[in-house]
Amino acid sequence: MSEWVEPVTDSALASAAVDRFRSEFGAEPAGVWAAPGRVNLIGEHVDYAQGLSLPIALPHSTVVAVGRRSDGILRCRSGLGAWTGRVDEITPGNPTGWAAYLAGVVWAQRREGLLDSGFGGGDVVVESSVPIGAGLSSSAALECALALALADLTGAPTDDAGRAALARSCVRAENEIALAPTGGMDQAVSLRAEAGHALLVDSRDGAVAPVRFDLAGEGLALLVIDTRAPHQLVDGQYAQRRVSVEEAAATLGASLREVDDVSALADPVLRRRARHVVSEIGRVREVLSLMDSGRHREIGPLLTASHVSLRDDYEVSCPELDCAVDAALAAGAYGARMTGGGFGGSAIALIDAGAAEQVAAEVLGAARSRGLTEPRFLTLNACAGPARRVPSHAERGPAAGFA
Ligand code: ADP
Ligand code: MG
Repeated sequence: MSEWVEPVTDSALASAAVDRFRSEFGAEPAGVWAAPGRVNLIGEHVDYAQGLSLPIALPHSTVVAVGRRSDGILRCRSGLGAWTGRVDEITPGNPTGWAAYLAGVVWAQRREGLLDSGFGGGDVVVESSVPIGAGLSSSAALECALALALADLTGAPTDDAGRAALARSCVRAENEIALAPTGGMDQAVSLRAEAGHALLVDSRDGAVAPVRFDLAGEGLALLVIDTRAPHQLVDGQYAQRRVSVEEAAATLGASLREVDDVSALADPVLRRRARHVVSEIGRVREVLSLMDSGRHREIGPLLTASHVSLRDDYEVSCPELDCAVDAALAAGAYGARMTGGGFGGSAIALIDAGAAEQVAAEVLGAARSRGLTEPRFLTLNACAGPARRVPSHAERGPAAGFA
């Protein structure tokens, strides 16, 4: 039997978070906010090359219950542990681990003037249905839920321009405090997605545009395969790819967004890296044009071509991802590819609605027969919406009991 990771409703996550908040802190939170994880349909490893990507928000999300404080202390609680520290002492290296993603948001928002320097601190409890470290952006979901919470609590703007500023602060949190060198795609989709749409993210200027993608209406679904292979973006490979992209752009005298011929790069490895980025941006454009004319099944081969490019030119795949993609295709998927940073994590397959069980069973069988870790699965029948305040808690009573 395949194992499925079901989404949990905002209100169920919120009520777990509020219960824990009460028992940890003996008070009511000021509110609860939720932010989604994501899969990237296509446009992988191009967000730090000023490229185009097309992520989709998941129905799986992370919630934070947040209370305000006035003594300069930040207290964080999650399934991974507890951390308490002084807001003034947050710095690269303090805290480390999971709390860095939350403390980093406070630090970055203060740096960016989104929170005033007299910000009095807060209490935060995290609950989530996003698989952690599976390439589905649990990190951005965590950052973005807190970023929106702080903005709402302090009256900072949360219209689209406000959310763009929050997304930038979350990228800084992840890069400068959590020390994970990711681009901006994950935070953009978590804060700025539109339900029923993929989000075109243009990393040249941070602009986004919703792209209608009615999966169920097209009779389609996305099967997400969490390979459960270890995935560690914080280690050197991701950073090395970024350096290669910068080196290629410097040699060619233009960003890879502007280039369509990489043959001037003498070094064969650098040339393959650049060829991935340039060809991937081209595939995003082709997908957009197919979607625009309602030919959604025909994007399948472009997804598969993206995987081949990531596997062979960019060299960020792994046996578990390759096995999942090959097995999904053999099971009749229109297309399949790794999604996210790679070196483990998840793959997606574009399939007929209703085929999820069958394709998953074949992917599981392939992993078993090769002695690989057994994957688990998520299905996506609709593109979810962006970070939001969870109303259920507010409806239960006023935000009482905090300083
Ligand atoms: P991904 O974003 O693909 O899930 P990352 O390695 O970028 O993987 O981020 C995962 C890290 O984010 C975790 O190791 C943890 O530090 C932090 N994190 C994410 N979700 C949670 C959560 N619900 N509770 C605590 N920490 C979390
Ligand atoms: Mg992440």
